[in-house]
Amino acid sequence: MAVTRPAPRRIAVVEDARYREHRSPPGHPECPERLLAVAAAIDAREQQLDRLLPRLASTDELLAVHSRAHLEAIEAAARRAPTQIDADTFVSAASYETALLAAGGTIAAARSVARGDAAAALVAVRPPGHHAEATRAMGFCLFNNVAIAARALHRDGLERLLILDWDVHHGNGTQHIFEADRDILYFSTHQFPFYPGTGDFDEAGRADGLGATVNCPLPGGCGDHEYVGALRRLLVPVAFSFRPQLILVSCGFDAHEADPLASMHVTRSGFEEMTRVVRAMAEDLCGGRIVFVLEGGYAPRGLQEGTGAVLDALLAPTPPALAALPALAPGSTLGHVVARVAAVQRRFHPGVGAA
Ligand SMILES: [Zn+2]
Repeated sequence: MAVTRPAPRRIAVVEDARYREHRSPPGHPECPERLLAVAAAIDAREQQLDRLLPRLASTDELLAVHSRAHLEAIEAAARRAPTQIDADTFVSAASYETALLAAGGTIAAARSVARGDAAAALVAVRPPGHHAEATRAMGFCLFNNVAIAARALHRDGLERLLILDWDVHHGNGTQHIFEADRDILYFSTHQFPFYPGTGDFDEAGRADGLGATVNCPLPGGCGDHEYVGALRRLLVPVAFSFRPQLILVSCGFDAHEADPLASMHVTRSGFEEMTRVVRAMAEDLCGGRIVFVLEGGYAPRGLQEGTGAVLDALLAPTPPALAALPALAPGSTLGHVVARVAAVQRRFHPGVGAA
């Protein structure tokens, strides 16, 4: 009797040379070469990936998140480029169009996963997005790619979306855009205190969105144990309480041990295990629908290893399972963080910190 093999998983990838056209001054960490490291990891797995062609985001799609004045300011900055927007954010002649392509590519990938054309997706875009506020660019970010895609999916009819932000920096823009929105839950792990200064434990959303913002600030020096533990012990119970229909990941690789900007120690295997946790949770909750969107990451090795780790965990034919949790070591950094988050979030998400 013939044995039927299961159909291979289809993972969509958005990666395009045009994302290298946005430029900052020489020596700036957010440089086009970042994408060469990401592309090397993608190219090594090319045969298992479906390339998606990006397109420009429409004005309507941008206006669902950003003010018209902000769009016009970035367009004008590109016309008189090179332009400096804040201490570390720059606009070159191609930046406006590249930023539209970043937002549009993120929407295209998110819709492909929402429709079920792809099991999951990885979107390798520049400029990054999670520091961009509704009304201004900030922290290397011009338009908030993940927020724009989340709004587009919500308008398509998805009722509940979860944004996991594991970039080493707090995504102030994404948090502020959705802090009063109960349908789009924002969960962030980040080095704290650190740039941009937001993301303390007690920031839990406001008005209708109270409980749909979850911050998990971590002291510098954390690694795989704390990152995987925070996802397993905090993200998973929050997600099971919220029950998202799709998960977007603001996927920075600047918590990597080689990153020059931050002081975390996440390894390749840490990023792979973090992805397995998110995938296991997504398989249980939302048919495995996850869209990873590049944010920061400034070490070529961190970008290449991180991208490879995410793709390998997504491509694995057998879905991972969530392992039972061992007891937390008393007095550990992770134990302290879990207790602080649980103290704030337990009234919104009863399972948090229960284990
Ligand atoms: Zn970052």
